[in-house]
Amino acid sequence: MLYNSTENKNEVVSASQAIAQGISKDGGLFVPQELPEYSLDTFKDLLNSDYKGIAKKVFSDFLSDFTEDEINECVEKAYTAEKFGSDNPAPISYKKFNGNELNILELWHGPTCAFKDMALQILPHFLTKSLKKTNDGKDAVILVATSGDTGKAALEGFKDVEHTKIIVFYPVDGVSPMQKHQMTTQSGNNVNVCAIEGNFDDAQTGVKKIFTTEEVADKLADNNMMFSSANSINWGRLLPQIVYYISSYCELVKNNKISLGDKINVVVPTGNFGNILASYYAYCMGLPVNKFICASNSNNVLTDFINTGVYDKNRKFYTTISPSMDILVSSNLERLIYKLSGDDDVLTKEWMNKLKTDGKYEVSDNVKEAIKKEFYGGYCDDNETKSTISKLFKDENYLCDTHTAVAISVYDKYVSETGDRTPTVIASTASPYKFSKSVLQAVSDNVADMNEFDMVNKLNEITGVEVPKPLSSLKDKKARFSDVVNSDGMQDYVLKSLGVK
Ligand SMILES: *Cc1c(COP(=O)(O)O)cnc(C)c1O
Repeated sequence: MLYNSTENKNEVVSASQAIAQGISKDGGLFVPQELPEYSLDTFKDLLNSDYKGIAKKVFSDFLSDFTEDEINECVEKAYTAEKFGSDNPAPISYKKFNGNELNILELWHGPTCAFKDMALQILPHFLTKSLKKTNDGKDAVILVATSGDTGKAALEGFKDVEHTKIIVFYPVDGVSPMQKHQMTTQSGNNVNVCAIEGNFDDAQTGVKKIFTTEEVADKLADNNMMFSSANSINWGRLLPQIVYYISSYCELVKNNKISLGDKINVVVPTGNFGNILASYYAYCMGLPVNKFICASNSNNVLTDFINTGVYDKNRKFYTTISPSMDILVSSNLERLIYKLSGDDDVLTKEWMNKLKTDGKYEVSDNVKEAIKKEFYGGYCDDNETKSTISKLFKDENYLCDTHTAVAISVYDKYVSETGDRTPTVIASTASPYKFSKSVLQAVSDNVADMNEFDMVNKLNEITGVEVPKPLSSLKDKKARFSDVVNSDGMQDYVLKSLGVK
């Protein structure tokens, strides 16, 4: 299987090149030229597989320049019971909300307690193998812009991985105290963490710019290094996310929640549009899906886009209690509009250029129609997020985080508006303890000024929900990183950290 850039179909690469490079030289994103097709018989076979088995099947269909042994090794190293708490890294909790059945797909049992682990525990294995195939011994420098969770998950995945260095930028006021503490205490000899004065979009734009500045790439090459990406612009990040939509479908069949062939809805709390796009790819491969429900917080640029076909990032930026979704430029939307426009690289490039120059673009009528048919967009504010956490806890004794609560709240609106009772998978993206303050405020009226770990304990006391070890063990760790730069200073920071002049 070959991959090409969304902004230039003639830029064609192998899977390992797509993963090693991260982003195309022209600034476009790599996409598979065609998708494998899974019939109901394929799904029937997969009913007999565990998570690792499904992962091996999916990866071998996409990574055609990897050997079976290489894929097996990547999967076996990534999805261990030690790292994910059990042999099923993506279990489903069956709950009810306002009379609607929720199939909550818990994607946060990995080492950093967010769904990013599902991809970032395996990406370093994909990447080191890809580098061996494609890059005459160069070291990979992973640049990451994070709204909080990617940074930690990437650090944890890449720490002390041979022939890699990783530099993470996060918005100085844009992450939760727990997220910040997780990143600044990171161990490893090849890691660097730096705050930037700006929001996530500034960090992401800065990283993309460094990536595509030839002069910087040349300097790295002179020092036997090259850039790569662990953000969801890297195909190696998206691919592992396809697996859990297929595994959750199989699990619903096995638990008699649906019959093989029945359609499901998928609800995803969305920021950069990576997670929901993975579910869309699974659908294009044959997963029976009725509707993709794209849930946003007050930064509702995607809700408006789905409803109108106009993407307009010129709007107020809100800092919300679901910070991993505080994003106005959703990078992976580029892959969706490329696909929905019939793989039209010229149109995609035109729209992306408009986004860069005007902060705004409008897709064609065909694409608008296609989006409306498959997607529903909705959003909720911080108050609705909190009341959802509170109600779900009161009714079901189940604690969810702020991002998952956005998904549940938007799903509730969707059902009220449409009456659609199709069985639905809700992607649950983080442990509630990563956002203790907001979750605690939702379930208790009396939150005095406490430090982060006192809040964790209090939340545990009130709810009895176990605190994940990777979070409780952070308490005594000292911060190693305190750098802050403005977004113009990012390039110098990178060169300095790498010792490159
Ligand atoms: C990253 C993240 C999201 C958004 O996912 P995208 O793939 O960027 O759309 C949602 N919730 C949490 C907890 C996250 O860490």
